[in-house]
Amino acid sequence: MERDCIFCQIIAGRQPADKVYETETVLAFRDIRPLAPTHILVVPKKHIPRVADLSAEDAPLMGDLLLAVRAVAEQEGVAHAFRLFVTNGAEAGQTVFHLHIHLLGGRPFRSLLG
Ligand code: 5GP
Ligand code: ZN
Repeated sequence: MERDCIFCQIIAGRQPADKVYETETVLAFRDIRPLAPTHILVVPKKHIPRVADLSAEDAPLMGDLLLAVRAVAEQEGVAHAFRLFVTNGAEAGQTVFHLHIHLLGGRPFRSLLG
């Protein structure tokens, strides 16, 4: 738990969040500035700042994270069509330095490949 991390504060129950799914290792809650009708942040409870900070011991946790994405997508009724994105570093647009997967759904998305 990092004292200055907003997601650690949410995980610890010290800051409010609209939680939608929780396991022993993962928490999912709605983004406060949604970019789609469904916009959920799926986060490991362990404080890991970025994907670039992962170590081999985090492999099972990352499996948990992706399985939580699947469960949340099913729960939200968007399992047929959703988009995931992850930011790593300020230059990539990361603003909260606690690893998280954005899960977006409920509207169509264009291909990023043009
Ligand atoms: P990033 O820009 O780091 O990829 O994503 C951080 C996301 O966290 C943003 O989409 C932002 O709206 C969301 N966010 C920031 N602070 C809070 C908060 O206190 N509560 C919730 N639910 N979302 C937050
Ligand atoms: Zn944190």
